[in-house]
This record gives sequence, structure tokens and C-alpha cells, in this order.
Amino acid sequence: DAAALVQMLFSLGEMVTATQSVGDETFELLGEELNYVVSVVSPEDEDRELLESFDIEFGSDEGDEDDLAIRPPVVTVMGHVDHGKTKLLDALRDANVVDKEAGGITQHIGAYQVTTEVEGQERRITFIDTPGHEAFTSMRARGAQATDIAILVVAADDGVMPQTIEALNHAKAAEVPIVVAVNKVDKPDADPTKVRGQLTEYGLIPEEYGGDAMFVDVSAKAGTNLEGLLEAVVLTADASLDLRANPEQDAQGLVIEAHLDRGRGPVATVLVQRGTLKVGDSIVAGPAYGRVRAMLDEHGDNIEEADPSRPAMVLGLNAAPGAGQNFLVVEDDRMARQIAEKREARERAAMQAKRRVRRTLEDFMASMEKGESQELNLILKGDVSGSVEALEDALSQIDVGDEVSLRVIDRGVGAITETNVDLAAASDAIIIGFNVRPQGKATEMADKEGVEIRYYSVIYQAIDEIEAALKGMLKPEY
Ligand code: GDP
Repeated sequence: DAAALVQMLFSLGEMVTATQSVGDETFELLGEELNYVVSVVSPEDEDRELLESFDIEFGSDEGDEDDLAIRPPVVTVMGHVDHGKTKLLDALRDANVVDKEAGGITQHIGAYQVTTEVEGQERRITFIDTPGHEAFTSMRARGAQATDIAILVVAADDGVMPQTIEALNHAKAAEVPIVVAVNKVDKPDADPTKVRGQLTEYGLIPEEYGGDAMFVDVSAKAGTNLEGLLEAVVLTADASLDLRANPEQDAQGLVIEAHLDRGRGPVATVLVQRGTLKVGDSIVAGPAYGRVRAMLDEHGDNIEEADPSRPAMVLGLNAAPGAGQNFLVVEDDRMARQIAEKREARERAAMQAKRRVRRTLEDFMASMEKGESQELNLILKGDVSGSVEALEDALSQIDVGDEVSLRVIDRGVGAITETNVDLAAASDAIIIGFNVRPQGKATEMADKEGVEIRYYSVIYQAIDEIEAALKGMLKPEY
């Protein structure tokens, strides 16, 4: 039973409670102790095996050195909120509309390419056009690495902030070189030197101080020194990365974003990582498949081919795949469909398995009755800080006795976000929303992750229900 397992884990040096989720290594350890061979197979491994059964290898270039050609770096823009990530991405895109005559208006397709001249040579750079590190981390969580270089945006008037450090750590963990864009230098209270000093403390040392990170002062708003930033990206790529790919093989890469277009059906922006994607190719993208009917670039122009590091919007898939899923060209439509169907079945099974461990207040009660749960984790979101405080206050007054404890692991003002759901899923928490609504894909994600969100507009009602659950008296909802 649970208690025996907890004890066994304890003797193995793992401190966990019966309701806490444990990591893969703990599982393997426990298996060893019980004389089973437990190997945790990651979804990536599973997919690799699936592709191998079709004699396909995903992720490395075919051929030898001679087959490889230089490819542009792929860049993600990260940094603290309001430091200018979006503005910078827009400014770089607009300053670089290569083909002004072709309509002139650039489209947001999730990624774009710009050209810049460095040391007399024309060089290309690909930008992932979703600011923030959500995209970066969610792709990494899927085992996919799209980014070669991270631009860390720091507002010169504000300096280094918590999310600056978070972004820095993400980039470091992924071993992605960083170029710092010291932004908003047009502001009177801008202090770019201070930013350099602050980041030095975190081990990111500017070149001019003898380190190896390039810092570039820019103003996204005024469009100042954007060329300097592009040059720094190219120089950093040349200095520390060997970015080459085989352009001649069947294309492989990642889905950057996808959606259902009313007129065009499923459209997916893909980033080609190796090979050249061509109109007419049979492809699989995550659990979707199809034949490339047409491809569009970031200017909305039709293109016939997309070479390594080139983003392209693909038309012709039967469904919209998820961001971060891989795509690959296969022999024919039949093989594409077979692989896609296998992936789809696997995804469905994984989703069902997750549903089964769905955690709700009622589950909590049920497991408490069996003597399992001792801790109820909550995330509180409210419309104003006063209501969040009042809620937390009232919750802390609930007399729950010694067996159970109530823990508020996070609180905040504003809509329920995907980040809240993420945290709830990771820590088995229930989200309490007071006079707030979910934002973006939060509900969809909560469904998928088996996270319960409960909405209230009257404080005492929230308290009543939570108290009832803690005392094992919640009436089931039908
Ligand atoms: P994000 O949250 O990092 O994407 O930040 P945004 O790009 O939305 O920018 C936040 C605010 O800062 C907006 O009001 C921008 O207009 C402003 N901003 C961005 N870059 C600059 C800049 O270089 N100079 C000035 N003065 N304001 C800027």
C-alpha cells in the first residue's frame, strides 16, 4: 500500500508523501528495490521507435561533412515582461521587408527571416516570432530544440528583473548562447552600464569587460541600432556555433504554430531544420498528415521550396498539429497516414491515462477517506488583490484538524493562465478562481492535464466548499 511504498522510498533516501508525484528516476529506483526492471519510456523515445519501424531517422543530417551547408541561426527573443520583446520583434520584421513591392504587409506566421550585411556578406537570420520563453520551454519540454541563439531583452530604464534571470537560466540550461539587447536606450533614465554590471553578477560578462557575451544598446521604439543587434547575432553564431545542415535530403523540422483557417483549412508554420521542403511532398506533422498543397512565406507570397532554417506556412494537412511537434517528409501519402494514425492513437492513450489521475476536490475527498491524502494544494486567482487576500485569509481560518493541511502554493490577480494550470498540474493543485475567467488555452490545457478549476463569485461559498471537502462532506456534483 501507499504507506509501505513511502517507507520504502524513505529508506532509499527519497522523501515523498503518498500523494506527491515522483520522477522517473524514483520509479526506476523503486523497481530495482522490488526486483522489477522499470524503464520509463519517454514520448520522444517512443516516437523514435515508431519512425525506426518505418526505417526513418529523425533528428540528424544524412550524408557526411561534404553534404552539409551553412544555415542561418534561429533566434528566440526572451526577457522580462514590458521590456520590449514584442516591439523588438516587430521592429526587426518591419525594418526588413525584403520584398516591399509584393504587397508590403508582412504576415504574422510565427517566424520570419531577415537579411543583414555582415563584413560584406549577405547573411540571413530566422526569428521565432513569439516573444517570451513559454514557446522556448514548451518546445524543450517536448524534447525539441528550435533555438540556436537567444536574444535577452533588458530595458535600460528598468534593469535586470526576475523574468530576466529566469530567461537567462532557461537559455543556459539549453546551452544556447545569449546576445543581450539593452533596450529603451532612448529613455532619459536609461542606464545601459548598470544593466551590464547587473548581468555580470549572473555570470553573463560583456565582451568589453573581457567576457564572451555581446551586449548591444538598442531602441526598439526608435529603431536605433537594430543592424548592430543583427550583426551581433551573426558574429555570435560564427564564433560559437557550427550551424550547418544537409539541404539535399527529405525535409525535417518543427511545427512553430498551427491553427484552423476558415478558408484554407489547417495551416501550420514549420521551421525546416534539415533538407528542403517542397510543394507536393508527403508529410507528417505530429499526428497530422497530408501533401504540401502550397507554401507561403512571411510576406504572404507563394514559395515552392523552403531550405534549412526557413520558416514556411504549409497548407494541405488534415489537422492542425501542436507547436513543438516534429514534421518530416516521407515516401508517400500512405506512409504519412500510417505514421500519423499511430501517433494519434498514442496521443489519445496518453491523454486518457492522464485523465485517470485527474485530481478534483472530490478525488481529494475520496482519497482522504481511504486515509491517503493529507495535503490539499491550492492556487488562488482573483479579480483584485483584496479579494485574493480575503480568500486566503478565510481559508487559513478553516479548522481542519491535524490530519489534513491546506497549502496555498500560488496566488495572484487576473485571469487564470496556462502558467497557472502548468503549476497546478506539476503540484497536484486545484485552482480557485474568484470573479475571474480563464485566459487563452487555460481551460483546454486544464482538461488535458486533469487539473480542476473551480469558479466562485461569493467568498463564503468558496470557503464552504473547500471546508466541506477537507472535512469529507462535499456533496458530489452532477
Ligand atoms: P514585452 O512585454 O517585452 O513584449 O514588451 P512590449 O514590446 O510590449 O513593450 C512594452 C512597452 O514598452 C510598450 O509600451 C512599448 O511601446 C515600450 N517600448 C518597447 N521598446 C521601447 C523602446 O525602445 N523605447 C521606449 N521608450 N519604449 C519602448
